[in-house]
Amino acid sequence: MCRHLAYLGPPVSLAELMFDGANSLARQAWAPTMMRQGGTVNVDGFGVGWFPTVPAKPGAAGVVPAEPGAAGVVPAEPGAAETVPAKPGAAETARAKECAGETVAAEAGTAPVARPVDSPLRYRRTGPVWNDHGFAEIATVVRTGAAMAAVRSATVGMPISEEACAPFRHGPLLFSHNGVLPGWPGCATGLVEGLSPAALLTARATDSALLWVLLRARLDAGQAPADAVRDLVGEVGASVPGARLNLLLTDGVTVIATTWTHSLFVQHAPGRLVVASEPLDEDEGWAEVPDARLLVATRDGVEITPIHPISVPSR
Ligand code: GLN
Repeated sequence: MCRHLAYLGPPVSLAELMFDGANSLARQAWAPTMMRQGGTVNVDGFGVGWFPTVPAKPGAAGVVPAEPGAAGVVPAEPGAAETVPAKPGAAETARAKECAGETVAAEAGTAPVARPVDSPLRYRRTGPVWNDHGFAEIATVVRTGAAMAAVRSATVGMPISEEACAPFRHGPLLFSHNGVLPGWPGCATGLVEGLSPAALLTARATDSALLWVLLRARLDAGQAPADAVRDLVGEVGASVPGARLNLLLTDGVTVIATTWTHSLFVQHAPGRLVVASEPLDEDEGWAEVPDARLLVATRDGVEITPIHPISVPSR
């Protein structure tokens, strides 16, 4: 089963996030230590989503000064200016938004206007993470204070494609699923009732995409994120026998995670939080999250509560 992680804390490079540590996520792609079912390696793809560190320039046209502590906006570390050219975040953001088909506002005849980023950027590829040498280089210079990453072991019968790789993204949210819905897509018939045609189309991609669509439907209906995640796992866990549902959701400020038959660990120190399928290093600060739990955490603290199955009347 896939491995995933979420990070909130002082700025780190994507390389530190993915490659550092004796049991880094990249290492878990080929030598995971806690795979419980349905796979031995995680080589079908990988992805990372991050909230860029944008050096906002107060007073510049179109730039709203970043508030300390705002999502993903972390003050630059001393010395960062020596290695980072002027306004790299802005340029990076503009390029990424252009690639994503989004319009980047520009002053007449000038470069795109810099502005803080309210949605995360993302890099996903099929194949093993160690095979992407371009990513390994880019990852050394991209820095972030809030991110999610995953390496994928595709469930038998699911497509190998970039779209199937976590993190999934919508607005300010990043999402990942470590697990499986046995019997997919047949098992989903009751779950998808009432979804819009567009949502149904997305939900057809993989079991993870289906869970993401179901979660978004709950959020769109106004349910609080932690309640939505807990109830989704409780309901799907009760209605799909053998479902494995380790979910991960972040908006760059809060990380919400579940355990439902797969491993999960948390490492928290003041101002810094890592949630990961397996400890990334030998640090003694990793705590295992018991099964059937909801974890809600920020840089400042971690709360873990039980998830109970929720029986839904058969439709
Ligand atoms: N079932 C999901 C997929 O195929 C997640 C896979 C996993 O956790 N190994 O993408």
